[in-house]
Amino acid sequence: MRATVMYKAHDVQIADVPDAALHNPTDAVIRVARACICGSDLWPYNDGPNVSGQQMGHEAIGVVEAVGSDVRTVKPGQVVVMPFAYSDGTCMFCGDGLQTSCVHGGFFGQGTEIGGAQAEALCIPYADGTLYPLPVGEDDALMPSLLTLADVMGTGHHAALTAGVSPGDSVAVIGDGAVGLCGVIAAKRLGAEQIIIMGRHEDRIALAKELGATDVVSERGEEAYERVRALTGGFGVNAVLECVGTEQAIGTSTAIVRPGGGIGRVGVPHYDTIPAAQETFYQNVSVAGGPAPVRAYIDELLPDIMEGRIEPGRVFDRTVDLDGVPDGYRAMNDREALKVMVRP
Ligand SMILES: [Zn+2]
Repeated sequence: MRATVMYKAHDVQIADVPDAALHNPTDAVIRVARACICGSDLWPYNDGPNVSGQQMGHEAIGVVEAVGSDVRTVKPGQVVVMPFAYSDGTCMFCGDGLQTSCVHGGFFGQGTEIGGAQAEALCIPYADGTLYPLPVGEDDALMPSLLTLADVMGTGHHAALTAGVSPGDSVAVIGDGAVGLCGVIAAKRLGAEQIIIMGRHEDRIALAKELGATDVVSERGEEAYERVRALTGGFGVNAVLECVGTEQAIGTSTAIVRPGGGIGRVGVPHYDTIPAAQETFYQNVSVAGGPAPVRAYIDELLPDIMEGRIEPGRVFDRTVDLDGVPDGYRAMNDREALKVMVRP
């Protein structure tokens, strides 16, 4: 079968790989109906860490083709969401809704023996715990929004939850990529009154406003901090959704949060130390977040998508087939595309 393989920075290709197959009795094989390229795929695309021969892709909606003998709830023919992490669904952490810490869990598309979703098919470990059956057919008009349940919408929601967004809050969203835009949706959904999008791409800012952003800060550094303070009566925001992962983004987060506020980190950190240890301590700022247990959030987010209250699928602005995936990486990396959907 064909799959997306990253060989080294800027070298991503469609390659022939062994067909996806059941390895364990708890596995399922899905045919990929929709996948996408993630902002986090651009980290290895640019500077690593790279695994030579890494199969890429960790977000998908698939159709179940085969299940192992111990799979109980997932059935062939079902349309399912594949969250970016697999999880057994039975351990203590899965029970707590923290599937990304599952004792048997792991991540798709990371270059381990686990495959990637930018492919014709892949094997899903712990199918009952991992996959989430959907009440739609694979050509449903809601497919783009449903696909975001595999990562970006759940991740934006996680940023908002871990930052402690409450009704009436003033919220800043750092980053105007797909996760940041889903963070705007999530903050609005949780009742934030003021949502400041911090980014500098005009088209993305325009979309952020349509999705619920009330203010825009495109400056950086001290200028940006001052603008946020000016917009919030001098206090800073109640909650910061950090959706980038750079040193600058976490520095901005600690600079613009008000006393007693929270920072929800969902950008994969490319820094070793969280800054402002003194200031955040004396101001009782919570610094939380991590890889989103998106599997846990589907129950809550799915009805809002099915009933049209949220439209996170609007983050997709390009669709390619498998052959178009390498150019999709280039387009996202050049900021020519916001988020690329893949129809293998
Ligand atoms: Zn578990």
